[in-house]
Amino acid sequence: MTQAPFLSIVAPCHNEEEGLREFCRRASGAAQSIAGDAFELILVDDGSSDGTWEIISELAEKVSQVLGVRLLRNHGHQLASTAGLSASRGERVLLIDADLQDPPELLLMMMPIMERGADVVYGQRTRREGETWFKLATASLFYRALSRLASVTIPRDTGDFRLMRRRVVDILLAMPERDRFIRGMVSWIGGRQVALPYERDARFAGTTKYPLRKMINFALDAITSFSTTPLRIATWLGMISAGVAMALLVYTFVRWLQDETVTGWSSIMAAVSAFSAIQLICIGIIGEYLGRLVQESKRRPMFMIETILRGGEHAELPTAFSEMSAGDKRAALDAAFVAGEPPAQQKSSLQKNSRIG
Ligand code: UDP
Ligand code: MG
Repeated sequence: MTQAPFLSIVAPCHNEEEGLREFCRRASGAAQSIAGDAFELILVDDGSSDGTWEIISELAEKVSQVLGVRLLRNHGHQLASTAGLSASRGERVLLIDADLQDPPELLLMMMPIMERGADVVYGQRTRREGETWFKLATASLFYRALSRLASVTIPRDTGDFRLMRRRVVDILLAMPERDRFIRGMVSWIGGRQVALPYERDARFAGTTKYPLRKMINFALDAITSFSTTPLRIATWLGMISAGVAMALLVYTFVRWLQDETVTGWSSIMAAVSAFSAIQLICIGIIGEYLGRLVQESKRRPMFMIETILRGGEHAELPTAFSEMSAGDKRAALDAAFVAGEPPAQQKSSLQKNSRIG
């Protein structure tokens, strides 16, 4: 299968064994009514520890449109999505979570909007079912903070659920940063971006793969990649505390002139600890940016693909796949399946080891 399909659907999956078959059924159904057989469904196994890969393999064997991509380890939602987008070849690309919180059928509404000239059609949540108040409150706080801090307008209440034109996907993939906040990066690209309001369903099965720790990291990635305002806040905090310190100095001097020695040990301690706290906060803010600079400057591969699977046939991509240009990626994908690679059974066990070692 070398002919590029019209539509690609990309779904990152991390421990989604319970809902994956249903997702494949609904997503294929929606794709079919748009593109007939000219679509591909790319399921990225992001280092799952349950039976997700087995299910993807089974689906890839049964449904010729399914392309399974297995990452070497868990890379996180954003990089798994990027890996899937890298493997996509369609003229239109739908990025969607595999947990059925975003209904695949909305594709039927997104497509006509794109026909009318939109470059990106993104889902905007009007209501979210089945999520805890904590998740809703932190998400809302995060989107509000981000829209104040960020230099590009990132629409509120949107996830990564969106339909994109090929050219947008290619620009997105050409952006080199490792800390990826896809929804913000797509906003940054610009063009005609249209919102499609929808009600977000509850998960079909399983639980959220975003514990608090991952959510905080995600929020920090988003803010540091789209705003340098926190660095300026550090400067302001520094200036304010310098002002307060100066006032305290004047106060002590005046008291000394009045011949009243300063008695308060506790007030000094309070001032000292307040200032050191401010300093530590500022160093921390700088550290957040510096740490990301260090990561970026290493230029490590963004993600590592262990194997790809289409129609029961395993293939391997070049090691530097994640760093290739859009054109080279497509050529590598086409070559992977037509180069008369050794049969699947012989490969899978052999190469798993040689790749990691
Ligand atoms: N996901 C992933 N890697 C991860 C965490 C999540 O590929 O490390 C996938 C997950 O399988 C799902 C999507 O990303 O398809 C969104 O994750 P989740 O539903 O857990 O996030 P939430 O909707 O709760 O924000
Ligand atoms: Mg979800």
